[in-house]
Amino acid sequence: MAEYQDVGEISARLAELSLPPLPAPLDAAVIDSHTHLDATLEVSGLPVELSLAAAAAVGVTRMVQIGCDVPSSRWAVEVARAYPQVVACVAIHPNDAGRLSDTALDAALDEIAALAAAQPYVRGVGETGIDYYRTRELAAQERQRRSFAAHIRIAIAHDLTLAIHDRDAHADILKVWDATGAPNRVVMHCFSGDVAFAQECLARGAWLSFPGVITYKANQYLRDVLAITPRERILVETDAPYLTPVPERGKRNAPYLIPHTLRFMADELGLAEAELCALLTENAVAAYGGEWGETLPRYTAAEPAAPLRGEQGEQGGQREQRGQGVKVANPEGISSYGGIR
Ligand SMILES: [Zn+2]
Repeated sequence: MAEYQDVGEISARLAELSLPPLPAPLDAAVIDSHTHLDATLEVSGLPVELSLAAAAAVGVTRMVQIGCDVPSSRWAVEVARAYPQVVACVAIHPNDAGRLSDTALDAALDEIAALAAAQPYVRGVGETGIDYYRTRELAAQERQRRSFAAHIRIAIAHDLTLAIHDRDAHADILKVWDATGAPNRVVMHCFSGDVAFAQECLARGAWLSFPGVITYKANQYLRDVLAITPRERILVETDAPYLTPVPERGKRNAPYLIPHTLRFMADELGLAEAELCALLTENAVAAYGGEWGETLPRYTAAEPAAPLRGEQGEQGGQREQRGQGVKVANPEGISSYGGIR
């Protein structure tokens, strides 16, 4: 972090990147329980070190970096190795699973299982799940369900947390979950159901994670869910670079913007800011398998290379060399991330 010692310098760098300004620092430290530092780098040009420094400057001292395919899962592990404040999750995102052939999906699942087995930096399997909103083809939906079940088995086998992505698929999420087995810890990332579905997830012992969209006026249903969720089951996340909270809605998200969501939730819950920070920290540590931080050895290499996207040829896009990383030139810009992750 030596590169960014000064809040003024961090602010200047964020402004150069046309990113929202730093919010006022939180009264206590908190954890971003679901973020994509690779997509944030790709979409906003925000380097990992600067993102971590900006987050730490406002009290977001730790985070969970989520994998979406084999390259980004490997990258998540590298970031967790490099920065003790980060732990990794590894997975094939449901929309990626839907696009792969059966053979390619099996190969990718083998790689995820190997990463999950071999890495002390991996705390979870995710994000996995089902997304009927973006994946409409029936065969692809079937592959999503198969992939979700395989991820559940990997989480169980290695006692890792399962981070679920669910979009327009509540009933089938429960169906596959019940049929396959229950990992010890399950997080409903970016919870998007109603109170009845929340109760189904809570009855199965899940944590419900709330992103910036809870601040949007139209999303009263999410505030209703927050109100009925037992306090020890609430998490906060950015899902950066997506789902930016009010008052920065419409701009690009990053972990340092958690304070806006957290302050909104504190008001909703009638809790003091510091009290909610402490609660959400305790919850994220429990949800992701115990404390992390300075206890893991520091990795001394330079900042990990830029994220690899689209390594499986089926995701399309043409490779070009940029710096030390291999980047994918995609005519649709950031759409390889499929919008909401
Ligand atoms: Zn995500």
